[in-house]
Amino acid sequence: MRTTALLAAGAISVASAGRITRSDFHREDIIYKDVAIIGGGASGAHAAVRLTQDYGKSVVVVEREPILGGHVDTYIDKTTGNIHDYGIALYFPYEDSFDFFSRPDINVTLSPWVPAGGNEIRYVDFTSGQELTSAFQSPDGAAGPIAIKKFHDLMTANGWDNMTQPGYWGLPAGKDIPEDLLLPIGEFAKKHGIEAMLSSMYPSTGGGVGSRGNFEDILTLSIIKAFPTAWSKVFFGEVSMFKVDGGNQVLYDKISTILGKDVLYNSQVVDSQRSNSGIELVVDSARLDNRKDGLSKSMRRKPNRKREDKPTKKLIIAKKLLLAIPPTRENLAPFDLLAPNSPLFSLGSSGTNYTDFPPSEAKEVARKAIQKMVEVGTLPDLEGEEVEFVAWSDHGPGGFGVSAQELREGWMEDMYALQGKRSTWFTGNGIAADFTTMLWKFNDVLLDKIVEGL
Ligand SMILES: Cc1cc2nc3c(=O)[nH]c(=O)nc-3n(C[C@H](O)[C@H](O)[C@H](O)COP(=O)(O)OP(=O)(O)OC[C@H]3O[C@@H](n4cnc5c(N)ncnc54)[C@H](O)[C@@H]3O)c2cc1C
Repeated sequence: MRTTALLAAGAISVASAGRITRSDFHREDIIYKDVAIIGGGASGAHAAVRLTQDYGKSVVVVEREPILGGHVDTYIDKTTGNIHDYGIALYFPYEDSFDFFSRPDINVTLSPWVPAGGNEIRYVDFTSGQELTSAFQSPDGAAGPIAIKKFHDLMTANGWDNMTQPGYWGLPAGKDIPEDLLLPIGEFAKKHGIEAMLSSMYPSTGGGVGSRGNFEDILTLSIIKAFPTAWSKVFFGEVSMFKVDGGNQVLYDKISTILGKDVLYNSQVVDSQRSNSGIELVVDSARLDNRKDGLSKSMRRKPNRKREDKPTKKLIIAKKLLLAIPPTRENLAPFDLLAPNSPLFSLGSSGTNYTDFPPSEAKEVARKAIQKMVEVGTLPDLEGEEVEFVAWSDHGPGGFGVSAQELREGWMEDMYALQGKRSTWFTGNGIAADFTTMLWKFNDVLLDKIVEGL
């Protein structure tokens, strides 16, 4: 089981920022770089490749897990060899960011994506375990794509697409944010006569909006972070979906090889000092020798994996800091970024919802649903076998976690105004449209700003 933010929150002991003494570190434990990148998911790994290979800058990536890739989860069935990408499943072209796959140093092969289990999709009520039949209108019915096309046309006609993707640089000041975008998505759909889009949006964005309760009550602006206009095009066939041959982890294993020892795996920042002339970070690094270049996720779950060294502290001295992790309270605590009533504190509160729903509870919900489906015959009899989770991943919080009122009062401007302050920059799905290729495009804009003056 992947232990992410939940365990990390308890595991980090955060020293108060601002008292880092270089002489406390052995010379071999001090790392000098142009840019320190925190998080090696889609955003951090992409930024690291572009900064080192295209801009000629030196980087170090601090990654909490023993592997790069973030939400990518590739599970290879030991018996059949079948590949299951149960985290990030697919990629779609967005502007020129798709070129990243085919650049000479990456060069992974892509194939058209088909849903897991082929094209057969069954809709089941998890509470009863029964398959939904005639009365249920499935999201793949004709009405859904038609409504989504109308949603797309509405977004582009009003310029709302450019305000919200790939990042929110183009969003007007709080009081001028279009009221439609601050409506709950249910009301937005009703207002524009496109309710049929909701049942298609929900399965696509379900895990990415970071709010519990009724899907229709979530703010449109939050929903379109996980269902941006660019993504809507796949629903009416304007763009196609692809996967990486061999599993999506292949891409990040390649990046891991390119970056080599410039990635600190199993590592987290525990203290920091940031100023306009540069940053210093203290990193707790587990120094697992057998994973310097990362391992495929199926390999890292081998039970004989063990720590070979006690965690050790390193000091990173860099000109710039790029945060490519979700800006939750726990993640930001070592960076001395949180102040009472700061806008980022509000974003962190969406993580509070997330911590209310621990993996154990999520697993129990899944287990009960499967058992129910077996009981009523929707799934075949398990013949005495227990439900087993062969792979599991906690994908952390999503969404903005702020109200329409906070957005009107300038929350988004305040958050984006933090870019570059005290040599620190933000990227990733916490603050931009939540699809890999769109985050790469967001990076392309951001990296030009970061390297200015480097
Ligand atoms: C279940 C799921 C399925 C998805 N499917 C798709 C899809 O099919 N296609 C698509 O384009 N998008 C998909 N997405 C959206 C996905 O969020 C983005 O595509 C993208 O992967 C986000 O990248 P990121 O780098 O911003 O964040 P992440 O991928 O979350 O990367 C953050 C990285 O930082 C590390 N980290 C976190 N906290 C710390 C810390 N304190 N210190 C050090 N390291 C830390 C994490 O281990 C992780 O490696 C999916 C999202 C989810 C949750």
